[in-house]
Amino acid sequence: MMRRFFLCAAATLVISSSYAQKPRIAIAGLAIESSTFSPALTDEAAFHASYGDEVFKLYPFLSRDSSLRKRADWVPTLVGHALPGGAVTRAAYESLLGKTLDSLRTHLPLDGVFFDIHGAMSVVGLDDPEGDMITRIREVVGKKTIISTSMDLHGNVSWRLAGHSDLITCYRMAPHEDEMETKERAVENLVSRIESGKGKPAYKAYVAIPVLLPGEKTSTRIEPARTIYAALGPATKQKGVIDAAIWIGYAWADEPRNHAAVVVTGDDENTVTRTAEQLAHSFWEARKRFEFVAPTLSYEKSMETALKSTKHPFFISDMGDNPTAGGAGDVTWTLTQILSRREFKSASGPSLIYASLPGPDLVEKAIAAGVGGQVEGTAGAAVDARYAPPVHITGQVEAIREGDKDAEAEAVVKVGSVHVIVTKKRKPYHYEADFTRLGLNPRKTDIVVVKIGYLQPELYDMRADWIMALTPGGVDQDLERLPYKHIQRPMYPLDNDMKDPDLKAKMVPSSDNFR
Ligand SMILES: [Zn+2]
Repeated sequence: MMRRFFLCAAATLVISSSYAQKPRIAIAGLAIESSTFSPALTDEAAFHASYGDEVFKLYPFLSRDSSLRKRADWVPTLVGHALPGGAVTRAAYESLLGKTLDSLRTHLPLDGVFFDIHGAMSVVGLDDPEGDMITRIREVVGKKTIISTSMDLHGNVSWRLAGHSDLITCYRMAPHEDEMETKERAVENLVSRIESGKGKPAYKAYVAIPVLLPGEKTSTRIEPARTIYAALGPATKQKGVIDAAIWIGYAWADEPRNHAAVVVTGDDENTVTRTAEQLAHSFWEARKRFEFVAPTLSYEKSMETALKSTKHPFFISDMGDNPTAGGAGDVTWTLTQILSRREFKSASGPSLIYASLPGPDLVEKAIAAGVGGQVEGTAGAAVDARYAPPVHITGQVEAIREGDKDAEAEAVVKVGSVHVIVTKKRKPYHYEADFTRLGLNPRKTDIVVVKIGYLQPELYDMRADWIMALTPGGVDQDLERLPYKHIQRPMYPLDNDMKDPDLKAKMVPSSDNFR
């Protein structure tokens, strides 16, 4: 049923004429952040696709009793979320998208689509995959359907994606503590526009900003991103504005769409345009103030600093192969350096946890040896062996755990004073429980080396000190070392001395007329 509202005591009921019954809204999307500078490939299984009613489990705000759930007839099709990785194979992409389109076809007509993506997917042999995906969804659902796109702020907004999206938004926090809030806003705006009969926004103002920065320089916990992103809330409160969003973009893929962007949607042309331009200017003007969120040093200097420090646990981010940004996650370079240092050769040396390295054969051997047993073998460099070969590990099995969603099986092997976490499949270690479940206590450990970039909140809160090490890998944080060929130039900071760009907003045509 359509909603009815009282405008004021004297007003009569206002009933929208657009909908006599609940709107029909489909849910679809594929989310991954994939580096084209990594030799890894991502297959269909990595997306852990949910189908039909399972899809609701991904969105607590659409639980059976939630008010949003009751406001529409939902058509959950296929939603897949993969850990960041290498480019998606064309076969995996076509298979997942094909199933999505088939499901949409059997549920037509649709009033809306909630399109839940990341925005930094790379697919082998295909430019702008999210633009391709939404174009093919649009062909199936038709021009009248309102598509509301929800993204990660590390995604990229191509002109095509903006054209076929009627509403578009992204996270306002990095780390992404507002992930669910953002998706809920995308759905709430979609349902409201359909219910009210207002339909597609009249204006979508788009500004491409020629800046490409790593996520590790743009955390919204610190300036300048904190202030830039804090402007979004008030911006959306203005009359005539539905949503406003700023994308940092994704630095580890090489396409013309990789750059920062602003999109503001709404019904008031002047406010939408002015707001988009103000946000874009604030980003551009701050470009030189983006710095790494923690001190950043070479690996050698990071380790020397940690060894001399009296602050423990001392965290070191092994950033270059960060699997949560798209690294293969199995580069052995850093662990090889650690195991060769004399300080860690004896069990009485400084305690260090290394999290983590995939090594399925070694995990199998550890399971066979059992806790307390000795194990010897190699791990890592199955996917990315460009910087170091598989690392040789000989030590005692301290813990074994099976059943993790990502790792599947994990083993802790003690080598000298180093606790090496080896996994069957790659897994990021973001939470304290990821360690304590393995009998490790990071709070009482001298040095904790994690294959991530900026520390996720639980680790950030426990750190006594922290350095981000500029280690090699598929998501090298030193962008000037990356062999870009297709991104637009000039681009800050690659073209450091470039002139001020034209930051005038371009009005994206309505999806009614977009081609
Ligand atoms: Zn992100």
